[in-house]
Amino acid sequence: MRQSNLFAPTLRETPAEAEIVSHQLMLRAGMIRKSAAGVYTYLPLAQRVLKKIMTIIREEMDREGGQELALPIIQPAEIWKESGRWDVYGAEMFRLEDRHQREFCLGPTHEEIVTTIVKGDVRSYRDLPLRLYQIQNKYRDEIRPRFGLMRGREFIMKDLYSFDVDEAGLDESYQAMYRAYTKVFTRCGLTFRAVEADSGAIGGNVSQEFMVLAENGEALIVYCDSCDYAANIEKATSDVKVEGAGPVRELEKTATPNQKTIDEVAAFLKIKPEQTIKTLFYGTDQGYVAVLVRGDDQVNEIKLGNLVGGNKLYLASPEEIHQQFGLPVGFVGPIGLIPEIKIFGDNLVKEMHQAVVGANQEGYHFINVEPSRDFPAITYADLRTVKPGEQCPRCQGRLCSARGIEVGQIFMLGDKYSKALGATFLDAQGQSRFMIMGCYGIGVSRTMAAAIEQHYDENGIKWPISIAPFQVHLIAVSAAQLPVAEDLYRKLNDAGIEVLLDDRDERPGVKFKDADLIGIPIRITVGPKGLAQDEVEVKYRQNGAEERWPLDEVVAKVKEYLANAGI
Ligand code: ATP
Ligand code: MG
Repeated sequence: MRQSNLFAPTLRETPAEAEIVSHQLMLRAGMIRKSAAGVYTYLPLAQRVLKKIMTIIREEMDREGGQELALPIIQPAEIWKESGRWDVYGAEMFRLEDRHQREFCLGPTHEEIVTTIVKGDVRSYRDLPLRLYQIQNKYRDEIRPRFGLMRGREFIMKDLYSFDVDEAGLDESYQAMYRAYTKVFTRCGLTFRAVEADSGAIGGNVSQEFMVLAENGEALIVYCDSCDYAANIEKATSDVKVEGAGPVRELEKTATPNQKTIDEVAAFLKIKPEQTIKTLFYGTDQGYVAVLVRGDDQVNEIKLGNLVGGNKLYLASPEEIHQQFGLPVGFVGPIGLIPEIKIFGDNLVKEMHQAVVGANQEGYHFINVEPSRDFPAITYADLRTVKPGEQCPRCQGRLCSARGIEVGQIFMLGDKYSKALGATFLDAQGQSRFMIMGCYGIGVSRTMAAAIEQHYDENGIKWPISIAPFQVHLIAVSAAQLPVAEDLYRKLNDAGIEVLLDDRDERPGVKFKDADLIGIPIRITVGPKGLAQDEVEVKYRQNGAEERWPLDEVVAKVKEYLANAGI
C-alpha cells in the first residue's frame, strides 16, 4: 500500500473528548471516527488490525473444533421471552418493531437464537458435540458508552456456543475454549490473566474472564501472591478472621447524639469501625431489604443481586427509608427492625462479638451486640467486597490487586437455555435429554483497544507484529530516494510482506512523526546517508533499537524477523 493513497487522516492534536490512550491514539492515527455515542467507523488501518485479530481467532477456534456460521443480528422477541431474558436485559437491549408491530431486538448476544437453530435440526447424541461460532457486530445500549472502542454500543464480538451430551462433554468444550483463548491473546501479544468471574445476565455458575492487565482497565481483579487464585472483585472471596472473642455481655442501649456515620460512632465510642455493623437498604423486586456488613466493609452488589434475584437493585438513601418507614436517618439497625423488611447479613457479621448497631431510635445505638442472640432470624451469605491484603481463600498467601480490561469471557451454562427453549436430543438409550451448553465471547474491537493500552509511548502506538496493520513501514526520505524505495517495495510485496510505502511529498520529520504514531513494527528508511553505502536504516518501533541492513538483504532480514516472531 502506498501512503499517498491511504485513507488514514492523522491528527496532530489530541482530541479533547478522548480520555484514555487507546481512544486518543486511534483517533490521532486516523484509525477510527465517531458516528454517535459508542458507535464508530473503522477506517482502513483499524480494519486491517481487526482482520488480523479475527484471523487469529478463527484459526484457534477452528483448531478446537469450532465451525463458523452467521446468525442473524435481528432477532424475534418471542425466543427472548421464552428464555425469560426479554425483561432481564432491560434498557441495554436495542428494541425495534417491524411494520406489523412485531417486536425484535438487535442481538446483544446469541444464546437464544443459536439454541433455537440447533434444537430444530439436532435429534441424536450422534450429532453432538457441536461448537458453533461467529464474528459479528453486537448491540448493547450501554448506560455509559465510553473510552472509544472499549465500551461501545455497537462492537465486534466473537461468540462461540458449545452443545454437549453431558457435563463431562461441557467440561471438555470449556477446557478447549480456555486453551484457545489463551492462544489467541498470547498470539495477539497481550499480557493477560484468566480470573474467576460472575456470570451476570448470561447465566450459569462457572465462568472466567480474560483480563488484559492495564492501568486504564475498568475491572478490578485480585490475585494471590503465592497460589494461582485470581478473581474479578465482583466474585472474589477471602479468608478473613474476626478478632477478639471477648466475654458475652448484656445488650445495652447507649446515647450517641448526632453520631450518624460509622466513623463518627466509632470515634465517639472509642472503638474501631470493625466493631460496628453497617445497615444499608436496597430496593429490589421483592420490596426493600436490609443488608448488614461490618462497618469497614463495602456491600458487593453483584453478590447481593445474585442472592436476592430479580431485575431491580438499587441502594436506597437513608432519607428514602425515613420517608417510607419513619426510621431515623443514621441510627438504623437490625434489632427490632420492622418485620416486612427482610434482612441479609454478610458472613463476617455472624462471627462478630460485642458489636455496635443503630437502635432504630434517633440518637441511640446498641452496644454488646451478639448477632446470633440479638437478631437470629436473618439470612447470611458472602456479601462483602474483598480488600487487597486479605488472606487468599485457598492458601496462606495474600491477595494483591490490579486493573484489567475484560477482553473475553467463557461460561458453563449447563441446561439453562436448552431447558427454557426445549433443546433436547435422544441419548444412546433413546431417552430424551437436554443439551448441556457453554458460551464463549471475545471482544474483538475491545481487544484492539486493549493492545494499544499495553503497547504505546508518548509518540504513538507500538503494535505487536502479529496484529500490526502493516509489518514494514518503508520511508523514502525524499523524492531522490523514491526509485530505490519503489524497487524495495516491489520486492517486499513479492515476498508476501505487508508494506506501507511512504511515498508522500512531505518533510522527513512529518513522515517519521506519522510513522511513530501509526506504530508499524519495522521502519525501514531509505535515505541519502545509508544509500551512499548501499544500506537502509532500520528502527524497531517496539524497543527503539536501530540497525543498518545492506540493500540486497532487506527481504531476507524481514523474513527472518517474521519467522522469529512466529509469523
Ligand atoms: P462488560 O462487563 O465489560 O460490560 P460483559 O461481561 O457484559 O462486558 P460479555 O457478555 O461477556 O460482556 O461479552 C463478551 C466480550 O465482549 C467481553 O468480554 C468484552 O470483551 C466484549 N464487550 C462486551 N461489552 C462490550 C462493549 N460495550 N464494547 C466493546 N466490547 C464489549
Ligand atoms: Mg463478560
